[in-house]
Amino acid sequence: MMNVNRYAVLFEPVQIGPLIARNRFYQVPHCSGLGHLRPQAEAAMRAMKAEGGWAVVANQETEIHPSSDLSPASEHRLWDERDIPALRLMTDAVREKGALSAIELVHNGNHSPNLLTRAPVLAPSDMSIDSLYPKQARAMDKEDIREFRRWHRSAAQRAVDAGFDIIYVYAGHRMTLTQHFLLPEYNNRTDEYGGSLENRARLIRELLEDTREVVEGHCAVAMRFAVEEKRGKQGMQAQEEGRAVVEMLAELPDIWDVNISDWSNDSATTRFEPDDGYQNEYIKFVKDVTTKPVVAVGRLTSPDMMVAMVEKGIVDFIGAARPSIADPFLPSKIAEGRIDEIRECIGCNICVSSDSLGIPIRCTQNPTMGEEWRRGWHPEKIEPKGSEEEALVIGAGPAGLECTMQLAKRGYKVTLAEGSDELGGRALRESRLLGLNAWQRVADNRIYDLKQRANVQLFLESRLDANQVAELDIANVFIATGARWRKDGVGRSARKPLIPAPDMILLTPDDIMSGIFPDNGPVLIYDDDQSYIGGVIAEHLAARNLEIIFVTPAGVVSPWTTHTLEQARVHASLIEHGVDIRTSHMLSKAGAGECEVTCVYSGRQKTIKCRSVVLVTERQRNNSLHNTLLAMRHSGELPGVKTLELIGDAAAPGLIADAVYDGHMAARNFEMDPAHAASQIYRREIPSLELI
Ligand code: ADP
Ligand code: SF4
Repeated sequence: MMNVNRYAVLFEPVQIGPLIARNRFYQVPHCSGLGHLRPQAEAAMRAMKAEGGWAVVANQETEIHPSSDLSPASEHRLWDERDIPALRLMTDAVREKGALSAIELVHNGNHSPNLLTRAPVLAPSDMSIDSLYPKQARAMDKEDIREFRRWHRSAAQRAVDAGFDIIYVYAGHRMTLTQHFLLPEYNNRTDEYGGSLENRARLIRELLEDTREVVEGHCAVAMRFAVEEKRGKQGMQAQEEGRAVVEMLAELPDIWDVNISDWSNDSATTRFEPDDGYQNEYIKFVKDVTTKPVVAVGRLTSPDMMVAMVEKGIVDFIGAARPSIADPFLPSKIAEGRIDEIRECIGCNICVSSDSLGIPIRCTQNPTMGEEWRRGWHPEKIEPKGSEEEALVIGAGPAGLECTMQLAKRGYKVTLAEGSDELGGRALRESRLLGLNAWQRVADNRIYDLKQRANVQLFLESRLDANQVAELDIANVFIATGARWRKDGVGRSARKPLIPAPDMILLTPDDIMSGIFPDNGPVLIYDDDQSYIGGVIAEHLAARNLEIIFVTPAGVVSPWTTHTLEQARVHASLIEHGVDIRTSHMLSKAGAGECEVTCVYSGRQKTIKCRSVVLVTERQRNNSLHNTLLAMRHSGELPGVKTLELIGDAAAPGLIADAVYDGHMAARNFEMDPAHAASQIYRREIPSLELI
């Protein structure tokens, strides 16, 4: 039995201005792709965190005025009083579950392109806007600054009216006007808002004072501030101006929420920042400079590290965005000593990708994230079983493990058969590649759970064929047999197979993950998948001192990773590893000792000497077992099988997050009548036709 008292310090109440937070767990603001377009989903998602034990639950950045319009991204919006009811949904729901709610007011300055409102874009100085749209921001004059302060004050008042307890002033992520004023690179003004640090920080001071006045001591005022930019002398440094700003404004806010900038540094992935608590070295000075409570983040999932951070005086609150997404019940699990049940964030940033894609948030570890309202899913609760029938799950990758776990939680007796000698499928295989070690947590969490359950039987080295499935005669069969990488070059850019010369060695990511490596170089990696795996394999092989040529039809290396905030790092890492990068080229021939590549624009061909090729193009579904079983069922050979469902990568190869989600959905919904299921996909938030 775990000694729960070991973590008692995490459950002490802490004062924030006029308020008391019930413990030290603080969900800092994070984007969700729900926002003003999906306010009911947003409210339900935030309320789930409150139910899971977080003392403070913040919303996401909330635009204060039409000149800060992030469309088509769906953040929150508080342009006028008509936006209050949508936000009140959240504050009511969060309060009902015993937590304080916080709102992150923002003006995004030149980071907001104002594509919906077509309002002028504002900045400290004339400059291009921060997105690829041919438009420039204009320098704010004194009247603009007065107006801006008025907008912020009015928004703060509306936030009070919407029921928020904590109101933010936000200068971080290189995305906010206040931070732009602070950075000399953005601010070349010669008036009292430019020049000295005191002048550049003036606007932040004014907003803090204005907000204090508006809330009149009834709400707390939070300052979210990026103390460091990780750009050396070119940017803000924690020990230079970062510290000076905190010193200057030390006692003005009721709480300091500190982090590092830009977003890719703040929400660093485990691939590039493997250690939890990676922001501590930058933010640790803050508590020495202010008497106000401090909250900070850094993918904090280990309760021991949390305790150490509080006891060493680094923070007062354990801040979390991603750990609270992966496990909304993290505080409750620690409180109850259920440490092994924590679903640890793997630091993959699939949640982040939802924001740039403008879609509801999703998470690799937590398939219920973003589904609280529209599907009514709860991360810790599931409907009890609908019958006494048993279930058979074939394949123990992310889809099979999740499906088995949820079926078992529902009370079904489940048999899980895995063909190989290990549980985990691609989560385990991919975790063996350089930088992806933390992905193993997808398997670990589920295997731990399954091993506690008496109603689950796990069989390794049990590659089932259709006759064996028929003999088992189990009513509900879920086939999660995964997918394998193609070896014929077919992919996005080529629908016809490549015919290689007989002595050219062709490999796939599956070979590399199984430990089959090219003997020596040069190795040509052909990435037509264009997600993350091609870049990972290039790093993995380059780290073995192989000479690597990376060829991709894309214009940049691993373009998908832009959405996970990694693309620039991937490209830099390949350069660091000495990889020869050739973008905008297709692989057209794999000859004897050399390959021919063709420019996707000009059709010009080049020859590249290489001894082997790793083809990262497309995956083929392992669906033959399913096809055979379907045929048998059709001819009446499987009388006892009621459900025959193909799930995960075997149904549609995608992200690990998609496979987990699919396994989860199957376990929840398989008893639904298909006609009913189709009409009940999920609840939708349909815009009102009322004229307002
Ligand atoms: P997913 O991402 O959909 O979970 P994976 O490729 O990660 O898919 O996992 C599929 C798993 O299924 C692998 O561990 C593989 O060994 C296993 N498998 C494939 N075919 C069979 C089979 N016929 N019987 C049992 N296990 C199988
Ligand atoms: Fe963590 Fe990945 Fe989930 Fe985001 S999607 S919370 S990074 S596990």
